Amino acid sequence: MRTAWHFPAMGSAVAAAAVAGTLTFTVEEAPAHAAVCAGYVGLTFDDGPSNDHTPALLDALRQNGLRATMFNEGQYAAAYPAQVRAEVNAGMWVGNHSYTHPHLTQLSQSQIDSEISRTQQAVAGAGGGIAQLFRPPYGETNATVQGVAAKYGLTQVIWDVDSQDWNGASTDAIVQASARLTNGQIILMHEWPPNTLAAIPRIAQTLANKGLCAGRISPQTGRAVAP
Ligand SMILES: [Zn+2]
Repeated sequence: MRTAWHFPAMGSAVAAAAVAGTLTFTVEEAPAHAAVCAGYVGLTFDDGPSNDHTPALLDALRQNGLRATMFNEGQYAAAYPAQVRAEVNAGMWVGNHSYTHPHLTQLSQSQIDSEISRTQQAVAGAGGGIAQLFRPPYGETNATVQGVAAKYGLTQVIWDVDSQDWNGASTDAIVQASARLTNGQIILMHEWPPNTLAAIPRIAQTLANKGLCAGRISPQTGRAVAP
């Protein structure tokens, strides 16, 4: 039983229950947990995997306590299967980013099907599991693309915040983009820009300052949730 000085700050029902001796543990644990993660955001890194960039990115993410969704191209998952396994082993989630990174909305349905299905096979064959999330290259989509994605059980994920790392954004600008994230939102980044790698420690600090944690992207809602 905790001492009575806790009670004035509580709601009357909680205080009454605490007096009855039933809620002491809950009252003590809930605030501390809430202070750790007030919400979750989805960090995403597109266009891998590769031998050149994936190892350093995974090291940086792990060292800073971050988990992310890696939207892999099928052609690279097939070429660098060990890096797909490294992503999974580092606690990351692997999504489908098409096989060759085309403008999908300019392709026929059968070509779109090939891009998505071959990537599912490449990721699974590499040990990345059955991808549940799909990001169309350039964020370009239409009803045909979405229909094919749905056929493979994939949830389409675009983004709320574009870091502009693909467009030469500075490390400062990438960090500032991450500061715009709110609970449930998703940020677009890539595995290849050096400025993105350099931004990782400061992104971690920025999120921590806001009480936000890096989460997984729910296939049910397409929003960031607790891992
Ligand atoms: Zn891409």
